Amino acid sequence: RLEVQNLTRAFEGRRVVDDVSFAIEAGQVACLLGPSGCGKSTTLRIVAGVDMQDAGRILVDGQLICDTQFRIPPERRAIGLMFQDFALFPHLPVAENVAFGLTGGWRANRTRVAELLDRVKMSPHLESYPHELSGGEQQRVALARALAPRPRVLLMDEPFSGLDERLRDGIRDETLALLKDEGTAVLLVTHEPHEAMRMADLILLMRDGRIVQQGAPYNLYNAPVDRQAAAFFSDVN
Ligand code: ATP
Ligand code: MG
Repeated sequence: RLEVQNLTRAFEGRRVVDDVSFAIEAGQVACLLGPSGCGKSTTLRIVAGVDMQDAGRILVDGQLICDTQFRIPPERRAIGLMFQDFALFPHLPVAENVAFGLTGGWRANRTRVAELLDRVKMSPHLESYPHELSGGEQQRVALARALAPRPRVLLMDEPFSGLDERLRDGIRDETLALLKDEGTAVLLVTHEPHEAMRMADLILLMRDGRIVQQGAPYNLYNAPVDRQAAAFFSDVN
């Protein structure tokens, strides 16, 4: 479970994250949805621990991981990351990439690595190097790598944006099925309403640093908070 309470972050006096609060249960996918520049990645960076808030606090499974006085370092937060530019390690084969966050490397973690690679249908590519894989295959290995240490929370920043449009819905559905099996709390950033409608249990609609509406996809679709929100969802089929 991830709880974000009253998070605020300003750059040069401008609040790019402004009093943001939400909670994501284990096994839930929350989509942080909003236009470019509204503060989505900044929110994720603070949760990951690579940036610091000016106010507010964050808890994982009820344990405080940071406020303005106290801060657990990123690697001790039990938070997994999957960013678009968070590439695979080019010099390591697939199995070693997946085992990267695990003590003892792939030989000490054969079962877990095999289970995940099987789950993302990459078992035949155990010994391949990233440059030998397609974009979609690399994306699936990156997902396996992010989930390998069994993070309590997984942060995903536009994870499908580098992929061919025709592949995206298939990979979205496969990703969702795996996330549900693993039971981690997921915070996924997107600027595509269609992606949020397809994947989210909870949509966090963000605008100018604020969450303007949050709820189940059908609630936002059927009862948008204002005209701008209505227009945002009007293209979704
Ligand atoms: P996109 O969909 O384009 O990725 P975003 O919602 O992820 O957008 P952020 O990257 O969170 O947006 O940025 C929010 C605002 O904060 C932007 O106006 C950005 O220019 C500004 N910003 C982000 N990081 C910094 C920084 N380190 N210094 C100054 N301004 C910053
Ligand atoms: Mg961003």
